[in-house]
Amino acid sequence: MPTCAVAFDIDHTLAIDNKIERIALLRLLCRIDREGGTLLGTLDEETTAIDALLERQRAGACEIDEAVQRFVYDRGITDAGAYVADFRAIVLSLVDHIVVPLPGVPRMLRELRAAGIVTAVLSNGWSPLQQRKATRAGFDGPVLASADIGASKPDARAFAALVERLGVRGDCTWYVGDDPIADVAGARAAGLRAAWFNAEGQRYPDGVTPPDAEVKDVDGVLRLASLIEVR
Ligand SMILES: [Mg+2]
Repeated sequence: MPTCAVAFDIDHTLAIDNKIERIALLRLLCRIDREGGTLLGTLDEETTAIDALLERQRAGACEIDEAVQRFVYDRGITDAGAYVADFRAIVLSLVDHIVVPLPGVPRMLRELRAAGIVTAVLSNGWSPLQQRKATRAGFDGPVLASADIGASKPDARAFAALVERLGVRGDCTWYVGDDPIADVAGARAAGLRAAWFNAEGQRYPDGVTPPDAEVKDVDGVLRLASLIEVR
């Protein structure tokens, strides 16, 4: 059995996606307009509506396909199937152009690999988008997406799926992420060690389970990995 592991969130931990799904929905608006649908407002208003829809979807209100269907129905198009496929294709075509790894991430991943540390990604999102983002960040290990697991962080079932995939005890595993609730509190509640990735110098929110460690860059993650002890 491997002795230790480091697992990661993707967005704002390994890479920035620059609102790739918002861009794809804005591209769908052009098709909706062309095919007889009704836009709901100005471009600013549409962007605000898109952000609200995606925020609800990421919080677990629905799957991404359902969110896209709703987006299309709300603008007067009843046959949404082709739009859903179009949305997925647009997003995936944009990954290599828009998703940017955080500084030093590919090097950090190479160093973890060279040290024989088991790694994985657990991310709220859909396949294959999260896999493509991880690849773009230089990660070539297993990627678990919430849509495939059937549970989103901070749900303990998501972390249980991660621990099972890693094959490493939770207390020998660091989970690194930027979201205090989904990543830090979720990982700790599931028995993992939680590292808060705080590249932007934020203040940790009051009343949320604190992390076991705070790191501000990839070298901080590498230091964490060297500290894992086998109990
Ligand atoms: Mg994140």
